[in-house]
Parts: sequence; structure tokens; C-alpha cells
Amino acid sequence: MAAHQEKKLAEERKHQNNSKASQGQWGRAWEVDWFSLASILFLLMFAPLIVYYFIMSCAQYQCSLTDPLLDLLTGNKHLSDIWNRTPMLTYRAAAIYSLWVTFQVFLYVFVPDFCHKFLPGYVGGVQEGAVTPAGVVNKYEINGLQAWIITHVLWFANASCFHFFSPTIIFDNWIPLLWCTNILGYAVSTFAMIKGYFFPTNAKDCKITGNFFYDYMMGIEFNPRIGKWFDFKLFFNGRPGIVAWTLINLSFAAKQQELYGEVTNSMILVNVLQGIYVLDFFWNEAWYLKTIDICHDHFGWYLGWGDCVWLPYLYTLQGLYLVYHPVQLCTAYALGVLMLGLLGYYIFRMTNHQKDLFRRTNGNCRIWGKKPEYIECSYTSVDGTKYYSKLLTSGFWGWARHFNYTGDLMGSLAYCLACGFEHMLPYFYIVYMTILLTHRCLRDEHRCSSKYGKDWKCYTAVVPYRLLPGIF
Ligand code: NDP
Repeated sequence: MAAHQEKKLAEERKHQNNSKASQGQWGRAWEVDWFSLASILFLLMFAPLIVYYFIMSCAQYQCSLTDPLLDLLTGNKHLSDIWNRTPMLTYRAAAIYSLWVTFQVFLYVFVPDFCHKFLPGYVGGVQEGAVTPAGVVNKYEINGLQAWIITHVLWFANASCFHFFSPTIIFDNWIPLLWCTNILGYAVSTFAMIKGYFFPTNAKDCKITGNFFYDYMMGIEFNPRIGKWFDFKLFFNGRPGIVAWTLINLSFAAKQQELYGEVTNSMILVNVLQGIYVLDFFWNEAWYLKTIDICHDHFGWYLGWGDCVWLPYLYTLQGLYLVYHPVQLCTAYALGVLMLGLLGYYIFRMTNHQKDLFRRTNGNCRIWGKKPEYIECSYTSVDGTKYYSKLLTSGFWGWARHFNYTGDLMGSLAYCLACGFEHMLPYFYIVYMTILLTHRCLRDEHRCSSKYGKDWKCYTAVVPYRLLPGIF
């Protein structure tokens, strides 16, 4: 009897050790190295300043990134001069933003998806996410496309019939709104940290490194929720910032019309190309549940503040720039930019589609007219359960391990090129996306290598390049 109990205890201990090992193996890091800590401190201190600098340089220096620095370095201006000319938080901006976020919460939580009932091919309504490191499968209400359509119908109805507010409202309150987005970004990240410590939704999927800054930035909880349906990650990643993206661009176009009596072809290009990207995001929201943001990242300042502030302010710099510099492109150049943007989008979409189709059908599909080639792989979740998966090695996935990022980068470059070559500011986006997606490649590969072990090695031997076949 005693021998039997001892054996059982030993088995339990082995199981616990295995659990801890596998939980440490994939998913976010348990330990913080100095480089990560230094990067995090840098971002916490400087990311809000970077956003302010870009927006201020447009408002006060016609989008020149060097003039504010030159003014400060030569003593021509003091920081206080720049700050004193910066619009402060206003009641009007606070009211607009509160209304905006409340409306998006309402659409997210209280309006179940209807679009999937009449749009062929669209996947909406209740959908399952990926298996979390603790082995949980969350359910999500996918209704982003509907939220986007309702919001835009109301926007156009107001602009053409009701005239309750001017379509330039976003541009006209751009800096006061910046303070509002920051307040929400910091509030939600702080709340997520407190929630993670004291009342997490799923304690087994929490990670606490003990380093305050790291936990604040990278998040503790994996999928914080309030009630059954309000999922912080999906809401903040996919609602107030991204739904606003296309409205912000429309507002910038309206401002051009008001200031110059016309909307330039560059502004139309930026609106169209970024509009396709945003619509694609909503059309594929169910697929998005399987991307790194939802499958790997915990919810902290990186996602909370990033989605509230960084995304709507820095992803829309091209449109803002074109309000100050209305560039009219020659037709051949504009067509070239359009082609680059569409080709980038096609690669981005087809690569994502191939993986999605392959995974959904468990390999029973055709990629470029042929049976897909793949590598069998396996991984273990926290509770010790072994899962099996497959890594596609044909189609775009045979060209490079992240060819979807390559397409994304081509599209990003097109937005920047639409602004001409007079200033550096519009090119921030391609620089940022290159850093983001290269870093993401490395992060993802680190995760996959920990998750799949030797199977991942076999895969990288078959598909040796990351972004550009033959180069990187
Ligand atoms: P991916 O969609 O490429 O997903 C990576 C995951 O896919 C891996 O972790 C792995 O997950 C699985 N996988 C990797 N290789 C294979 C393979 N050969 N076959 C099958 N599955 C594989 O990356 P992201 O989630 O980062 O990005 C999704 C899209 O969003 C990209 O197109 C990207 O460009 C875009 N994006 C845009 C951003 C923006 O700010 N505009 C920011 C970030 C992304 P598993 O554990 O399931 O095996």
C-alpha cells in the first residue's frame, strides 16, 4: 500500500515538474534578462514622448522632424515654448473620446454578430481561440466587421445628411484626443496589472516574473476578461484603435478638402490602401484569434497602451502629413504605388490564407493546385497533454518562414511612398514595421522552437529563410 502511494506521489511530482517545464517552454518568458529590461524601461519612458514628438512636429513645424530639435539645440526655443503652444485636454475631446469608447464597447458586447448570416464566406459569431499554454480554449464573439460597418455608416450618414458634427472633428481635436487616449491606455494597463495579481480570469495562464516593469509592460494575465464576453485583448486590439484608423484617415481627407478645396490623389491612395488593410483585418477577425497577439502575448501596457495610443497616432501619420503637405502625384507614379500596395496586400493575404486553410483542413486541401507539403510536429501543454500539429512547407510558406510579413512590409512601404520624398516623417511607418516584424520573426521563432523542439529544427532546415528567399 505504502509502495503504491509512494509511486503515485512520485508520478504526481513528475507530472508537476513536466507541467512547469512545459509552461516555461512556450508562451511568454518567466525570467527577465537585462536587455529585455533595458528595452522595456526605454519604451515605457520614451514611447509616449515619441508619439508626442511626431504629432507636435506636424502641428508646430509642418511635419519637420529635425526643426524642433534644431530649435532646442540652438537655444532658439525652450521646451516650455513648445509645451506652451501644445493644446491641452479639453472637455470636448474628453466627451468625444468617452462617447467613442462607450459606443465601441456597446457594439462589442451587446450587438451579436449578424453579418455571418448573410455574407457568404465570412466567419463571425461565436468562435474558438487557440489552445492557451494552460490548455484553455476561449470563446469569442466575432462582430468586428459589423462594428466597423455600423460605425462607418453612421459617419457617412452624418457627413452627408445629419451634419451633427464636422467630418474634420478628429483632426480638429487631434492633440486634445491624444491626452484622452493616453489616459485610457495607462488606466487599462494599470487595471490589467491589478486584476492579474488579485482577481485573474484564469490563474493558470498568468505569468508573474516579479519584475514590476516587465510585468506591467508585458502583462500578467493571458486573456483577462470581465464577464463571459468582454475580452480585453480582442477589444483593445480590434476595436477603439483599428475601427478609428479609417475614420481618422477620412477626417484627414475632409480637412484637406476644407483647407485646399480638393483631396489629393496621394490622400486617396493612403485612404484606399489602408482601408483595404483595415477591412481585411475585420473580414478575417476569426483568423486573427490564431495570431501571435492573441496566442502568445499577455495583456499589459504593450498591448493596452499600444492599441489605444501608438496605433491610432503613428499608423495614421501619412494622412496627417498630407494635410500639411497636400502632395499631388503624377499618374504613373501613383499607379506604381497602387500596384506595390496591392501586390503587398495580395502576398500578405494569400500567405495568411494558405496557412489558415492548411490548418483548418488539417492538410486536406490544395495549395497552388497541389497537395500541401508539411512537417509533422508535436508539443505539450501545462497539464502534460501532448498535442499534434503540422508545419506547412509549400506555397508561400515554402519560400520563406514569414512571407506574410514580407507582403505586409511591401504594403507599408507603399503608404509611405504615396507621400513623396520631401520629409522623413511619413517614412517612420516602414522603419517601425521593419523593426516590429523582424523582431516578431525572432520572437515567434523562439516561441516555436521552444514549443516544437527538434521538429522546428527540421522545419527550418527545409525552409531556411525568414523574410526574403536567398537573403534573410
Ligand atoms: P503568423 O500568422 O505568421 O503566425 C505565426 C504562427 O503560425 C507561429 O507561431 C506558428 O503558430 C504558426 N506557424 C508558423 N509557421 C507555420 C507553418 N509553416 N505552417 C503552419 N503554421 C505555422 O504571424 P503573426 O501572428 O505575427 O501575424 C499575423 C499577420 O498579422 C501577419 O501577416 C502580420 O504581417 C500581421 N501583423 C500586422 C501588424 C501590424 O501592426 N500591422 C503587427 C503584427 C502582425 P502555432 O503555434 O500555431 O504553430
